[in-house]
Amino acid sequence: MALESFLPVSPNSHFPIQNLPYGVFKPLAGGNPRVGVAIGAYVLDLDVLHDAGFFSHTIFASHNPFNQSSLNALMALGRDAWREGRATIQNLLRAETSTLRDNAALRERALVQQSDAEMLMPVQVGDYTDFYSSREHATNLGTMFRGAENALPPNWLHLPIAYHGRASSLVLSGTEIRRPRGQIKPPDSAAPIFSATRALDFELEMGFFIGGGNALGEPIPVERAEEHIFGLVLVNDWSARDIQTWEYQPLGPFLAKNFATTISPWVVTLDALEPFRCASPTQSPTPLPYLQSSGETFDIQLRVGLQTARMDERATICESNFRHLYWNMAQQLAHHTVNGCNLRTGDLLASGTISGPTPNSYGSLLELAWRGARPIQLTNGETRSWLQDGDQVTMTAWCQGDGYRVGFGECSGIILAAYDEPVS
Ligand code: CA
Repeated sequence: MALESFLPVSPNSHFPIQNLPYGVFKPLAGGNPRVGVAIGAYVLDLDVLHDAGFFSHTIFASHNPFNQSSLNALMALGRDAWREGRATIQNLLRAETSTLRDNAALRERALVQQSDAEMLMPVQVGDYTDFYSSREHATNLGTMFRGAENALPPNWLHLPIAYHGRASSLVLSGTEIRRPRGQIKPPDSAAPIFSATRALDFELEMGFFIGGGNALGEPIPVERAEEHIFGLVLVNDWSARDIQTWEYQPLGPFLAKNFATTISPWVVTLDALEPFRCASPTQSPTPLPYLQSSGETFDIQLRVGLQTARMDERATICESNFRHLYWNMAQQLAHHTVNGCNLRTGDLLASGTISGPTPNSYGSLLELAWRGARPIQLTNGETRSWLQDGDQVTMTAWCQGDGYRVGFGECSGIILAAYDEPVS
């Protein structure tokens, strides 16, 4: 019999019983932040279930990681605990399990409509690293800035390049994004000027959270890497291309990136993604032994929508897939720790822009409009080379199963005009 919940879940819902992503929420009616899972149009309140004794036979019996304002306590418990929690919750929600199904009073307390809940940042992130793992994206940027012959940097096929990002400016989907100001150097100007960015962009990415970390000096081997991955979210690495062009050499991105990075609220676990495992792109040359992995990744469909202030609904401007990434998560994690660098519970490792092989799969406006040379045409006649004030960018992602979707919900942000007062 197919796995089904007693709760109604439409085939297009991102949150069937096969998914059960974790998030942190606060009921609009009042109460403290607590941990829940999404099921259909509901949030299942795990703190209520714990109080009612539903985890008394599990690893969580003496310890409640659900009455918390972040998932960190749950994430730190490790993969065996995550799996036991998931199995317990999934069993409670099954169509043939009567415990919750037939207890109206408990259902009333434990199920909150998502529209009656405020989602909060799911994880307290200590450190955030952003990779650059799409060969198509790196090739497109290299072609634009260095020419087709030197498109990929010499190290690119040998290691997953990354930079250390900024955790303090990670924000939740729905947070408004203020157009940043900074130094830019227009091509026709001898000296830099101070201005609001004129080249604001998004980057379609996904990121994974570290569950259990590693001690300083003790690398995580590539074949053990997935044990340390709690789950994934959508990531929009907002970027100011003109600030980036002027500042990035020789140490890489700085103020062009760290003004805001948006993530989606629901963390989809690796166990939920397991049925969608697939092969990574073939790697040539063969990487060094410490980077030789199973060669597996996940088939996750990605979509970016844009709605300008003059549009009534958003238009799809990019369709890509997580499986295009050249370096997989296990390789990224193994590389990050190979020098002994310690990762900690809650750290976020993002993929880098996920571009595919076709022009409609490019994961940034920089590529979609080819650095302004081919502005994209929107359905209402407007064009875009870069984001304008009032533009809303919404990313979605899902894995397509047989009659169900394991989805990530949305990662959205709207652009606000720059502050116009002078810098003091
Ligand atoms: Ca990025």
